Amino acid sequence: MIDFTNFKSLTSVIKHFNNEDICKQTLVDVRWGDDVVCPHCGQHHCTKRKDGRYRCNHCKHNFSCLTGTIFENTKLPLQKWFMAMYLISSHKKGVSSLQIMRDCEVTQKTSWFLLQKIRSLYGITDDVALDGEVEMDEMYLGGREANKHQDKHVEGTQGRSTKTKTPIFGMIERGGKVVAMKVEDTKGATLMPIVSQFVEEGATTYTDEANIYYKLDENGYNHVFVNHSQREYVRANDIHTNGIEGFWGHFKRVIFSTYHSVSKDYLQRYIDEQAYRWNTRKWSASERFEDMFKKAAKSFEYTDVLSLSSVVDVVAWKTKHDSYYWAAKVA
Ligand SMILES: [Zn+2]
Repeated sequence: MIDFTNFKSLTSVIKHFNNEDICKQTLVDVRWGDDVVCPHCGQHHCTKRKDGRYRCNHCKHNFSCLTGTIFENTKLPLQKWFMAMYLISSHKKGVSSLQIMRDCEVTQKTSWFLLQKIRSLYGITDDVALDGEVEMDEMYLGGREANKHQDKHVEGTQGRSTKTKTPIFGMIERGGKVVAMKVEDTKGATLMPIVSQFVEEGATTYTDEANIYYKLDENGYNHVFVNHSQREYVRANDIHTNGIEGFWGHFKRVIFSTYHSVSKDYLQRYIDEQAYRWNTRKWSASERFEDMFKKAAKSFEYTDVLSLSSVVDVVAWKTKHDSYYWAAKVA
């Protein structure tokens, strides 16, 4: 089995993956090991053919290690894919398609495509459960008010409008992971099922004074808040939302400095990417590359099915509390 700790630089990736056979064999090793599984029917009885592909003895389909992955039908050498994956894993703020274009020597169109495909891997998240002390907050991206988060409550509802801006909702466990997603609106009825999905009951939640959070108490959470409209940002040392606001700051800096602007359609992928970076900030580049490689070698539907934004729609939300209030949302 390949030892990913050897990949300490882009050069080491280029040197190791210097031909297609090595690239494909590594994908086979990481994806299946010695136990090849048919991606069409899930059976284990597969025969290797002379051309390197496999044939399923059960459903009779032919397939390869690329079937069902982000690499399927690619005309690009796998070495370039792995180079792009390494670059994306090793840069703290992410890389632009221009940089991928230069470093991997591909066209900008190809570079953009590579980035979008690779970025889709970040949507695959293991079950996240935030517990203990959890801060939550909303942020608005786009429009002239984009940078005015701090003052969002000062003039009535200004800054919370979703007409020109896209709302993003985030939750962070102090000292732990962040979960963030694009949301339709920031009404309690939209946010509370998300909280219930990701935050363990009994956790202590920290928010600002917005009334969308009033329901936290009756949904099984301890709830404390600071009154931002009264210019109160920290109370009793630990009552604040500085953690999640730190993540928003990081997110905005990356969006504006590396990518300059982001289309609404792809916003969730950028959020997933930055949340992933935040959650793995103590990892080395080779650890992130290994994790990304394992995600990429898997067969999965890389459309948005698995992204966090759709979890609430996909997973049936069990109404333990307040069933009347949430019935409409769940239906
Ligand atoms: Zn099969």
